[in-house]
Amino acid sequence: MRILLISDVHANLTALEAVIADAGQFDAAWCLGDLVGYGPDGNECVQRVSRLPNLLCVKGNHDLAICGDADLDIFNHEASEAILTSRRIITPETINYLRGLPEKLVTDLVTLIHGSPRNPVWEYILDATTAADNFANFSTRLAFVGHSHLPLMFTANPENGLVERTHRLPGATTTITTRAILNPGSVGQPRDNDPRASYGIFDPQMMTWEIHRVPYDIPSVQQRIIAAGLPEKHALRLSAGW
Ligand code: ZN
Repeated sequence: MRILLISDVHANLTALEAVIADAGQFDAAWCLGDLVGYGPDGNECVQRVSRLPNLLCVKGNHDLAICGDADLDIFNHEASEAILTSRRIITPETINYLRGLPEKLVTDLVTLIHGSPRNPVWEYILDATTAADNFANFSTRLAFVGHSHLPLMFTANPENGLVERTHRLPGATTTITTRAILNPGSVGQPRDNDPRASYGIFDPQMMTWEIHRVPYDIPSVQQRIIAAGLPEKHALRLSAGW
């Protein structure tokens, strides 16, 4: 069984379509939030994600903010400018869809959140200490998170509870033998200096986890960002991956 893991699409339809094409056959899709914000294609990304097979999807901080359900003071200047511009683009149907997303989904095996198990929408899990604190805040074996835009893996040693952090590179298959917090990286705005769209493939029967990276037509997205009146910074960063 192949499950497609995506996060932080950020209104980048070209990257999203490249990921879906590259992933090939998959049985289900799990989306970890931030479908909108930064990019030009918020409505189209929400429509495309909502049609994925057996979809489970949670909401992110940008999804909340574009709906007007979060205080913009929390965001930096360029992020809040992008949110204000995006609100002019986003349709009422998109707002309804985003508002209906849960902050957390829990199955027998996994917990899905955008940020962290203890603070589902807002907390970044970037280091082993923060990850270690969060292992007590979910009861499933695995948690999948997004938000940092980095394909990170945190594993908890069952003997001593020590948490190890790994930045996952594409091309290797990991068999997960411990509790773990897994991040598939960002589809629409990677931040690890690799501009290729990032996604994960999880097999719950084999307990395997892979990160994949796929190139896409970045200049076309940059042109649409500028044409939409979104901050130029969010166009420039795509070609460098930050
Ligand atoms: Zn994000």
